[in-house]
Amino acid sequence: MLSTLRVATRGAVVARSASAFRFQAVRAGSTWANVPQGPPAILGITEAFKADSFDKKINLGVGAYRDDKGKPYVLPSVRAAEQKVVSNNLNKEYAGITGVPEFTKSAAVLAYGKDSSALDRLVITQSISGTGALRIGGAFLQRFYPGAKKIYIPNPSWANHGAVFKDSGLEVDKYRYYDPKSIGLDFEGMVADLKAAPKGSIFLFHACAHNPTGVDPTPEQWKEISAVVKEAGHYAFFDMAYQGFASGDTNKDAFAVRHFVAEGHNICLAQSFAKNMGLYGERVGAFSIVAKDAEEKKRIDSQVKILVRPLYSNPPIHGARIAAEILNDATLHKQWLAEVKEMADRIITMRALLKDNLEKLGSKHDWSHITSQIGMFAYTGLTAAQMDSLAKEHSVYATKDGRISVAGITSENVGRLAEAIYKVKG
Ligand code: PMP
Repeated sequence: MLSTLRVATRGAVVARSASAFRFQAVRAGSTWANVPQGPPAILGITEAFKADSFDKKINLGVGAYRDDKGKPYVLPSVRAAEQKVVSNNLNKEYAGITGVPEFTKSAAVLAYGKDSSALDRLVITQSISGTGALRIGGAFLQRFYPGAKKIYIPNPSWANHGAVFKDSGLEVDKYRYYDPKSIGLDFEGMVADLKAAPKGSIFLFHACAHNPTGVDPTPEQWKEISAVVKEAGHYAFFDMAYQGFASGDTNKDAFAVRHFVAEGHNICLAQSFAKNMGLYGERVGAFSIVAKDAEEKKRIDSQVKILVRPLYSNPPIHGARIAAEILNDATLHKQWLAEVKEMADRIITMRALLKDNLEKLGSKHDWSHITSQIGMFAYTGLTAAQMDSLAKEHSVYATKDGRISVAGITSENVGRLAEAIYKVKG
């Protein structure tokens, strides 16, 4: 270290390899002098929104639920469960590597159903919300998947999917999903891509409320997808970040996952409780793998632990305890289901109101996709230039791909939003 500095300050020219010289030149300035500037993250929208002084500005960029006053919402069932957790006076010892068992057991039942054949042969671990579940899944597949270490994700997909799987060491490719012409599902393209992929490929599916498009296959289409996946010997990885939040019914939203399991697919699954319990910052999630039998389960479970241990040792306990209270207490569970439905219904109502308002203004476009899409987001079909006009001329902020967060629409701002969209699109 000292000799390095001395060489650099004296400017002595010593014969050495080019790479050693470059390293010293960098060290002479700053260790991180060659770290390149990354592109701005999605939060750029929030920044632009904050900087706008117009009092009727609208932020439709955020991926979090808002109540009809546009405010963040803590579910009353979550408040009650948290009180119970606090009054239980539990200690703060570490959870095991795979988390709080009362939570993971009930999370499995919520996803797979209480009579599922998967429950006895399920490997499950708590995770740092949905993102962490995807990351554990990616790492497990990278380490143990016997076929090509490549995952196909829908085009488009949640912006983070590509990065999560790439950082897990998987190659990432895309399959056709969204059809811009119909603003709906490109079912034929999707099936064709499933069939064209090499046998035994890994496919990621959004279980419900596809982000960013809000376009889901119908149950009949899921059945066909399952048959094609089986025929090709592909492996299905489900991402279920919105169970209950899509339709208001946790069973209905789990249809694809449960159908695949019933059809004999030994899937893996990432679950998030960020949206359906509003536990965003508590980071509550689970990753599970359906094993063939008890013996296989034991082996996989041992390897999941080996994988998680050096990543973060064990997960945080508070949010998982809250979710466990809700899932395991019959009264709280019932209350929660009603509250999930209330959130889903508010979103469905806002979709209908937006479409009605656009039609009342005289828009000649077909806006039926706004109400046929499901979940937090709507793909409006607006171009990047139109989204730009929405922001600059009408103080309506959302991503350039035309995606709006329906959760940001309220009874009060929906009229002005429809007018703004009508003005930029007609
Ligand atoms: N998958 C999808 C499709 C999502 O939309 C999200 C959240 N935006 C996640 C996973 C993960 O979210 P979290 O880590 O907050 O649970």
